[in-house]
Amino acid sequence: MDPVSKLIELFSEFPGIGPRQARRFAYFVLTRPNSFIEEFTKNIGAAKKSLRTCSSCQRFFTSSSQMKLCSTCSDESREKNLLMIVARDSDFEAVEKSGVYRGLYFVLGGSVPVLEKEPEKRVRLAELKSRLGSAKHDSAESPAPSEIILSMSATPDGEHTGDVVRNFLEKNAGGVKISVLGKGLSTGTELEYSDTETLRNALKNRG
Ligand SMILES: [Zn+2]
Repeated sequence: MDPVSKLIELFSEFPGIGPRQARRFAYFVLTRPNSFIEEFTKNIGAAKKSLRTCSSCQRFFTSSSQMKLCSTCSDESREKNLLMIVARDSDFEAVEKSGVYRGLYFVLGGSVPVLEKEPEKRVRLAELKSRLGSAKHDSAESPAPSEIILSMSATPDGEHTGDVVRNFLEKNAGGVKISVLGKGLSTGTELEYSDTETLRNALKNRG
């Protein structure tokens, strides 16, 4: 494959980008001056290098130090008895940006498509198990939750992911209250595109 076709193929792997947009992106990049391309590639490398996974919520965060916990998990003012489970980092960001939730999070790292036979390969169930396992000792890194809020998109994959995680929690988080945010979202709503008012109502009416 020639380098231009390869570049188009790489752009088409981006979320939501079809072949036509991928082609536009590729030609856009190729018509920029060399300095742009150097800065672009350098920053991808630098961002990737400074990127860490939080040992508690599993989300990506950037840090030049060796910190294990992200700014949210290390924030003493958070409500540590609430644990919200979201599919992706972008969902975390949407809820955080709305400011309607002050508890802690766990990021699954994806969703489980309806026909997936091995959900543990798609989402961080092993990490969730160890997060809940350490929560039994109620440490600073893994405070014990009294309620776990499943916050998935109101889409077929989102609902399926919610079911998979709920089944998993029923086996692995005995006694903890499990609530679902999705009831406040209308069908088809992606969590990451929900506005503040929708998220506030969804959180208030969770059940
Ligand atoms: Zn964290």
